[in-house]
Order: sequence, then C-alpha cells, then structure tokens
Amino acid sequence: MKLELARVVRGTGRLGVLRGLGRTAQHSLEVPGCLLYTHLGAVPHLTQDTLHTLSSLPSVTQVTLSNIAEHQEVLEEFKDGFRKFAGLHDTLLYCSLHDSAAPCPTGYTTNKTVSVWGSGGRIELTVAKFMALQKAVQPDWYQSMADGETWQNNTSRKRVRKSVDRTLAHLDECLLAHQNSQELEGVEVFGVVEGGDIPEERVRSARETAKRPVAGFCLDGLQTGSMDQALRTQLIAAVTKELPEEKPRLLQGVGRPDEVLACVEVGVDLFESFFPFQVTERGCALCFSFNISLDPERAGRALPAVLELNEDERDTAGETQHNGDVSLDDQTRMTSFEMNLKDKRYHDDFRPLVEGCGCYCCKNHQRAYLHHLLVTNELLAGVLLTIHNTAHYQGFFSALREAVAGDKLDILRRRVLRERKE
Ligand SMILES: [Zn+2]
Repeated sequence: MKLELARVVRGTGRLGVLRGLGRTAQHSLEVPGCLLYTHLGAVPHLTQDTLHTLSSLPSVTQVTLSNIAEHQEVLEEFKDGFRKFAGLHDTLLYCSLHDSAAPCPTGYTTNKTVSVWGSGGRIELTVAKFMALQKAVQPDWYQSMADGETWQNNTSRKRVRKSVDRTLAHLDECLLAHQNSQELEGVEVFGVVEGGDIPEERVRSARETAKRPVAGFCLDGLQTGSMDQALRTQLIAAVTKELPEEKPRLLQGVGRPDEVLACVEVGVDLFESFFPFQVTERGCALCFSFNISLDPERAGRALPAVLELNEDERDTAGETQHNGDVSLDDQTRMTSFEMNLKDKRYHDDFRPLVEGCGCYCCKNHQRAYLHHLLVTNELLAGVLLTIHNTAHYQGFFSALREAVAGDKLDILRRRVLRERKE
C-alpha cells in the first residue's frame, strides 16, 4: 500500500491515491474518501446486484469483528475467507473491531482482552482469538486490537495512559503473530492511535505507533458525541503532525459532512460511511448541497442541486448542532443535512428527493411515494433511501476531492452549511 499525494492544502488537507491495495495490489482508493459500510458484508437493505447499479462505490468494504466474531467456527470450517463466504467479489476487505453505528457498552476491557458485542451478546477477545479471527476472515487490511474505552470526557489521565499502553502492547503482539503467519502474508495492519482528550497522550500514542511496521493509522476515540469539533480538530492536528506523510489516516466514528470537512482540513484521509445508513434508518434523505462548481450547466449535470428546506424544518434540524451539547444521542438524532420524509408535509409533494440527483430513486420516485412507503413500513423505503443516501454521500466525497484539488474547501464548507455569502 502506498499513498501518492497529489496535493497538500495549507500544509494539512491531503489529496491523493492509495495504490497497490489488496493481495494482488491491483486496487486503488482516492483520498479523501470513505469505505463502504456493511453489516456482515452487505450494505443494509441492498442485494449485491442492486448495490452494483450504483456508480463510484468505494473499492474497500468494511466489515467488523463485532458482527463476525460469533461466526468464527463456521468461517474456520469454510476455509476460504469472509469475502467468498459473503459472496463479495471484486472488493477489498477491511476488518475493524467495532461497528461505529452500534452501541458498545464500556467497562469490559482488561489488560489482556477487549470485548465486542454481536447479536448474541458479548464476546471477549484475547490477541490469540483476535488473530485467529483475522486468519478466518482473510481481509486485505485489518485494524489492530485496541483498548478504545477512553472516549468519554470524564476519563481520568491514568485510564487514558493505560489505554495507550495496552493498545501499543496489543499492536506488538498482533504484529508478532502476524509476522509468523503464512495465512496473513500480504495483509496490511493499521495501528490504532488512542489518547482520549489528552494532547500529550495522543502525541505519545501517534509517535509510538508510527515506529511500528504498520501500513496506516486508525484514529480512535474521537467519534461524534464524545467531544466538540474544536477539540477534535486540535487533537487530530497534534496527531497528524507525528505521522509519516506516506501512510493513510482513517478516522473512526465521524461521518457528519461538517465534521468530515473539518477533519480533512487537519489531515484525515479516510472515513467510515455509517452516516448515510443512520440517516436511512430514521426515515430521512440526505439533501445538503455540495455543489462548488461555478459553471451552473455542468453543476446541474454532475452534482445534485441544493434542496431548500422550509424555515421551520431547518430550525428543528439545526438544534442538535448548535446547542453545544454532545452526547451519544447525537449519533442517532436528525441533523440539518437531511429531510424527514415521514413528515406529513411530504404526503403530496411530487418532487424528487433532491432536484437534479441522478440516482435511481430520484429519477423514478417522488417524496410523496417515499412518505407513503415509510408510514406504511414498506421494506422498499429502506432500499430507495439507501440508494439515494449512498449516492449523495459519495457525491459529497467527490466534491470534497474537487475542493481540495482546487483549494475551494471554504466554498464547500459554506455550501454544506448553507451559507450563501461568498
Ligand atoms: Zn437521489
């Protein structure tokens, strides 16, 4: 894996291509970019053939051990790895520890173990069990085992220090087992940077992790709901200064467009894409604008035009962003980047979800039909919303790369936050 940087804006925002991905080294991934969020290899609500009607999907599929751990014996018996087990073909597999869109109870880590929570409850992982799982899954990359229980803002300095120490010890053990394993030859390991909200511990974690033979870095414990964006930006800026330029940085647990933008500006390359999934689950459609092109004709063809919410909807949706409170509820609460199609006002609204959006849902259906599907609990609602939300989110990342390339991140930020003055 090699990150070729085409441009670095103001010393930090990075545009480039990750090349030589996968065991055959044939895949690439543009950064800033995101991974494909899945439950057990499937994008929720979509079959593989429906998924592949979408264009510009990420080349890397994310699966999580919290979903997979309880199937270890079946996978070991199957022998051919998770990709084949789940019927995935031309995609790279990245295996992370937790699912950022699922709750993960705290208080269960020890010096030697971390716990993941699947549908059948808690599963305790030692490094040996963690590595046996990686051999059964056979991913292209995986996140090393980590003690990430320090995201709550009342965590003590002593607990944060312990988390950094444990995570480094887990990484060393994982790397040792990895180097001695034939099955994992050609597979890449991402080291995990912890450190809670303490800048010195963040820097220590980054420096020490960077000394190990890792292919990239996961920035953990900075998720939406754990801290405000100003502190997150400050911590990420301190961390990315310590990391080698040619290796990618993946931020876990952050997916809101405004937060993604701010994190790209301080040197984050990769994100997870659980955000459109959360939007779909609450019956909403992404509708924020990301059109930065100055040529309106081209913009109309290439990118969805902005959808204007009426004032009271905008006010309600905006509340969660500007009240300064952060809590885990923030992850499931509606944001100002989406419209709530369950709302009665859409029952006779015959416009597409987003004017100008080229997705299957917007080309074939109206808001009124989606409203009807949602209030009658029809499964098709989830299918159509996933198609639109996935396309819209990928469109945003494409605009993000265009903005870094053209030094237009300020314009994009104003578009996304709906500020009209330029
Ligand atoms: Zn659409």
